[in-house]
Amino acid sequence: MAVHAHPDDESSKGAATMARYVADGCEVRVVSCTGGERGDVLNPALQQDPEILRDMPEVRRREMAAAQHILGVGHTWLGFVDSGLPEGDPLPPLPPGCFGLEPVEVTTEALVRVIREFRPHVLTTYDERGGYPHPDHVMCHTVSMAAFGAAGDPTAFPHAGEPWQPLKLYYNQSHSKALLLAYHEALEAEGLESPYAEWLKSWEDRAPRTVTTRVSCADYFALRDRALLAHATQVDPDGSWFKVPLAMRQRVWPTEDFELALSYVPVSMPEDDLFAGLGTLDDADKADTMARAGELGIAYDGTDPTGPADPADPADPAQPEEGGER
Ligand SMILES: [Zn+2]
Repeated sequence: MAVHAHPDDESSKGAATMARYVADGCEVRVVSCTGGERGDVLNPALQQDPEILRDMPEVRRREMAAAQHILGVGHTWLGFVDSGLPEGDPLPPLPPGCFGLEPVEVTTEALVRVIREFRPHVLTTYDERGGYPHPDHVMCHTVSMAAFGAAGDPTAFPHAGEPWQPLKLYYNQSHSKALLLAYHEALEAEGLESPYAEWLKSWEDRAPRTVTTRVSCADYFALRDRALLAHATQVDPDGSWFKVPLAMRQRVWPTEDFELALSYVPVSMPEDDLFAGLGTLDDADKADTMARAGELGIAYDGTDPTGPADPADPADPAQPEEGGER
């Protein structure tokens, strides 16, 4: 299950991975926390379209349905309202009634209900920075973490379905400086113009995230492009993403990348599969039994001393002493 803030986020973050798992026979569900009602029209060709200006929410529902069909996934609207991206100095307050201002118990219960109904083994979401600082993305992280913690707890939201504990939780980490740099260098090596030079110069040098898991999915990049373009109001088909030829993207960076944040099953790093440690599709019953059992112990929380430390991140808490319990 992939939890996202807005329709279109599912097509720009982890879409090829989802398409690959669908082809492998997995059932995949996208959850959109909001309807994307406050998104701007980012496609210059559609900016003056009267129908779009009249009913953006309906346009985005149609776009999402098209992308869902292309990717072969299920989809649930969580039903909250887009907070919009506040701009200005000082930033204006968030609009009343938006996702970013909803009480976390309310949004968490809504997601717990969907988790208990769909019963995923693996959940993906954004890291604590939201991937980028949109209030809905940060809230998507907060709600996903709270719902992952509550879904298996029979005392939490007892009216929201039978307890079900997803076994692994990942953050999407596909949009890295390393990826843009790789595209930039490949374009220049072939004498093509790179749209990334300025971008890379002004890239705010944050500590790189830990990538624990690279999923090979280059065969599904074309499908991912189609899904992204289905969100026609949100994507400029002449934008920088599409300046890198498909074959080059497949060759230079054939994976989508993830950061394992929490796991109830033992893991060994690095991984190449979000379902690593959960057994095969044929014996999914075992994972089902675990997800129903309750009382599971966290086997990996991103700070396991045997896991991939991130020495470049000064915010990382100190590693525990040898033998220390966490
Ligand atoms: Zn978004």
